[in-house]
Amino acid sequence: METVNVKINGKEYAVPKNATVLEAAKYAGIDIPTLCYLKDLNEIGACRLCLVEVTGARGLVAACVYPVAEGMEIKTNTPAIRAARKTNLELVLSNHEKKCLSCVRSTNCELQKLCRDYGVDEDHFGKPADGRFAIQNIGPSIVRDNNKCILCRRCVAACEKLQGIGAIGAMNRGFDTEIGSAFEKDLTETTCINCGQCIVACPVGALYEKDDTQKVLDAIADPDMHVAICMAPSVRAQIAESFGNPIGTDGEGKLVAAAKMLGFDGVYDMNLTADLTIMEEATEFIGRLNNGGKLPMITSCSPGWVKYCEHYFPDMVENLSTCKSPQQMFGAMYKTYYAEKMGLDPKKIFFVSCIPCTAKKFEVTRDDQNAAGVPDVDVAITTRELANMIEKAGINFNSLEDVAFDDPFDVSSGAGVIFGATGGVMEAALRTAAEVVTGTKLEKVDFTDVRGTEGIKFASYMLGDLKLNVAVTSGTANAKKLLNMVKNGEVNVHFIEVMACPGGCVNGGGQPIQPAVVRNNVDIRAKRAAVLYSADVAKDIRKSHENSAVKKLYEEYFGEPNSHKAHEILHTSYVKRGI
Ligand code: SF4
Ligand code: SF4
Ligand code: SF4
Repeated sequence: METVNVKINGKEYAVPKNATVLEAAKYAGIDIPTLCYLKDLNEIGACRLCLVEVTGARGLVAACVYPVAEGMEIKTNTPAIRAARKTNLELVLSNHEKKCLSCVRSTNCELQKLCRDYGVDEDHFGKPADGRFAIQNIGPSIVRDNNKCILCRRCVAACEKLQGIGAIGAMNRGFDTEIGSAFEKDLTETTCINCGQCIVACPVGALYEKDDTQKVLDAIADPDMHVAICMAPSVRAQIAESFGNPIGTDGEGKLVAAAKMLGFDGVYDMNLTADLTIMEEATEFIGRLNNGGKLPMITSCSPGWVKYCEHYFPDMVENLSTCKSPQQMFGAMYKTYYAEKMGLDPKKIFFVSCIPCTAKKFEVTRDDQNAAGVPDVDVAITTRELANMIEKAGINFNSLEDVAFDDPFDVSSGAGVIFGATGGVMEAALRTAAEVVTGTKLEKVDFTDVRGTEGIKFASYMLGDLKLNVAVTSGTANAKKLLNMVKNGEVNVHFIEVMACPGGCVNGGGQPIQPAVVRNNVDIRAKRAAVLYSADVAKDIRKSHENSAVKKLYEEYFGEPNSHKAHEILHTSYVKRGI
């Protein structure tokens, strides 16, 4: 690495030659404050919070875009710098509806923290902008409150660069500038996939998920309703962050304990239907291989990805696996098999899923997701919403004793738990497909080539005589690249895993929001995924087809994977939406 020598606050450092001043300051252990900056995504120097002094520059410069040079002297904390940052914060606040008391991001708001750090508590420029813009309830997933928007454009960059969609942008000029969709369309009329990556990019309370927790509380309070919840694999890897624990804390046992205290009649592990998905999906894949079906087959458990495919690759929806997602399979199985077994009326079951993903809120509203004649899943709440419910109920999460999931759905494999990380579904499917195709027991169940947060990964494995080519991608911008490579004949793959969110569910739009200073410096996706891979290794069984609870489901109800009954209840269909 080529370096240059710079002085930061009077001390000498060798820093990478192509670093910005903001990056160089890290070498001196200094986090220069930022608001609009997101590493590799939004480096526009707009908010002017990162102002510093450097030799040779006229006035203060924005550290996030200013390159270092040999011999440069940098000052990051002079009276002039502090005064300029404070003035710029006051300017940001002049258009901002300051309702911290009830704001969804209060105590986790980057603007609020900076105001506290710089002692900004009043308006010096203009009047407050209370109620200037109508709050927009956009579809089933997202709420936008432009009264709190600081026009940092981090959401726009996330949608455009991470997801390759560009559903949102800045509209109008000057004081009237606001974030919206092109031609002032409602976001539901665009190609928005409800992924929520704009929400987790937002530093303030201008974007958040639609709050469905009251519906859940109402159902719990209704003595006629049987209310069950199931937890997606990745929720256990993140929920503890909401209660002040380090990124990478496994919160499974406390999660179950807290949900039971909230009053759910059953608290279940979605890992079970991750295993069930593998049984259906691996069987479907082997069927397509043997019978000349549509290849490459593409996974379908990420609803943001499914909607993306319907919009941007409508000619490839037949490539999608017809399997419902684990969330939908659980609700469908619960309201059919379990309702029959327990003598419950499906209309009196309120089934909740807790998920890392705002797109799952959209998924529950899709057609063809009602196996028992009622919606498979009634409400999908994010990890953040469940954490809020726990907090509001006064439950001290960190002091809880670990509790196990409820039977009979408490058995799951290591293959099921890794669904929450990019590459996890592929690895789980390979563990089962390899044994089914070859008829021999795998000596090594770890398919490490498909792990990791790289945007597109390829791997090949011998399944008997067949050389199986697979690809794994996450983030729809990467998915677009990969699918175009497939369409152009640049790669030949049989099976593709796609997750809409970069890094998979561990980085979903419904997970606890980490501020930019953490997102820019810590690989939160890898730390959260590590929780899931540790859980996989700790499991007694690590392959979906060895899950005794799944075997029982087939024995008692579905017959065999891909049976007529399994198709009716566990599979779905897609639409061609176009752009
Ligand atoms: S966005 Fe931040 S500063 Fe604004 S009201 Fe909400 S918590 Fe307060
Ligand atoms: S939810 Fe996803 S697709 Fe929709 S605007 Fe936000 S980032 Fe873009
Ligand atoms: S909605 Fe949030 S991320 Fe988007 S421009 Fe406004 S403040 Fe920034």
